[in-house]
Amino acid sequence: RKGIECKKVFFRYNKNLMTYALHDINLFIPSNQMTAVVGRSGAGKSTLIDLLMGLNKPEEGQVLLDGTPLSSTNLLSLRRAISYVPQDPFLFNESIRENLLIMEPNANEEQIWDALEFSSAAEFVKRLPNGLDTMIGDRGIRLSGGERQRLVLARAILRNPSILVLDEATSSLDTENEAKIQEALERLKGRMTIIVIAHRLSTIRNADQVIVLEQGEIIQNGEFLQLANEK
Ligand code: ADP
Ligand code: ADP
Repeated sequence: RKGIECKKVFFRYNKNLMTYALHDINLFIPSNQMTAVVGRSGAGKSTLIDLLMGLNKPEEGQVLLDGTPLSSTNLLSLRRAISYVPQDPFLFNESIRENLLIMEPNANEEQIWDALEFSSAAEFVKRLPNGLDTMIGDRGIRLSGGERQRLVLARAILRNPSILVLDEATSSLDTENEAKIQEALERLKGRMTIIVIAHRLSTIRNADQVIVLEQGEIIQNGEFLQLANEK
């Protein structure tokens, strides 16, 4: 099976702790589908993502990539395959194109426009992340939180990752901006594995699989509609 899998995963930040940040986690994240991980603050979302990205190792159990346990051999390919979008990404106050090219210097025009179109960032390509002191038309207006996220999404897509991880990337956005990001993800579905971490269910309506964490355990795992009906 192509994808990332957790088998009987346990994790504690400190061996002296009684409580596990992750407790008996079993899951499968299929390739080229969208999986959402939701749960309250402190539920274990970040801890789980760190393990899935190979940034931390389980205390017990295994993380597998395409059926093979993570080891020094496939860890590197996993890391290369991932584009990670944090909640509060860093942008240079340079042109939109510069912000893309700084990270991906070899990208060509077609790839740049493709990434900008995909993330609906093409519409503000003439502006600067932090704006300008002197206004020249709308060019001087700084990017909103939603626009910043769309730019960062474009940057993440430009790497042509096989796994895209969005870590609370839309948590601080209003519904309109969140919807734009959702539309972009909808367009990307099927092209790459998408993992969305969120604490709101509304963020993840188009996910193929929704994993709900509570106090380090998976309390629900299913399709969004199924979960929504149970609520
Ligand atoms: P969120 O995922 O809600 O944005 P964080 O992942 O930063 O927030 O933190 C989640 C929880 O983990 C918080 O309750 C925070 O206090 C706790 N936490 C984060 N880092 C540490 C740490 N180094 N030691 C202990 N607790 C931590
Ligand atoms: P979430 O991302 O869902 O907010 P986290 O994975 O950050 O949750 O946290 C899960 C649990 O692990 C929480 O109880 C948190 O306090 C604890 N925790 C997180 N990071 C650390 C850390 N670096 N050291 C110790 N405890 C941590």
